[in-house]
Amino acid sequence: MSCGKIVCIGQNYRAHAREMELEAPAEPVIFLKPSTALIADGDVIEAPAGLGRVDHEVELALIIGKKARKVAESEALSYVSEVAVFNDVTARDVQSAARTAGLPWALSKGLDTFAPMSRPVPVSEAGDLRSLRLELRVNGEVRQSGSTSNMIFGPERLIAYISKYMTLEPGDIIATGTPEGVGPLNDGDVVEAGIEGVGKVSNRVRRI
Ligand code: MG
Repeated sequence: MSCGKIVCIGQNYRAHAREMELEAPAEPVIFLKPSTALIADGDVIEAPAGLGRVDHEVELALIIGKKARKVAESEALSYVSEVAVFNDVTARDVQSAARTAGLPWALSKGLDTFAPMSRPVPVSEAGDLRSLRLELRVNGEVRQSGSTSNMIFGPERLIAYISKYMTLEPGDIIATGTPEGVGPLNDGDVVEAGIEGVGKVSNRVRRI
């Protein structure tokens, strides 16, 4: 699989911000993952054991279909061609240490294999993007269960906000944030992220 840039949104669900002991943000929190992190359904998540805790985060991914620059909210959804299920895999200990030190936490999000994504489906087939059920299971056990209705900033607002500062191009991905229930992944775990009407992405974890 290949893609353009991956723009991720942090703390976009109140209950997740709370579990991270963070305030709900006044404006979208943006960070990037490299395209080299992308993997497909069935690929292996390789998590270096030396980096400590590695977490799952189920998210709705928006895939950009045409160049978007300074787009109005009212037009924003016309720039999305497809949607997919995304797992924003995170080296949590690395992220926490960087946050505490006031340093960038790009490494914690950017490792190879840390962006599993399902096969994209046309946005027209996905239904209302603000009422999709998200679920994540580890070894068959439900760990995250939420709804995109609980996003603080919805897809239109995110596209308008991002495109005000960064041009979005066809093939770029926006990962829209995770609901509560994030937790660790261990060697041999099978993590399956799913969104009703969109699909699922299932990956085995190897601590290497
Ligand atoms: Mg995330």
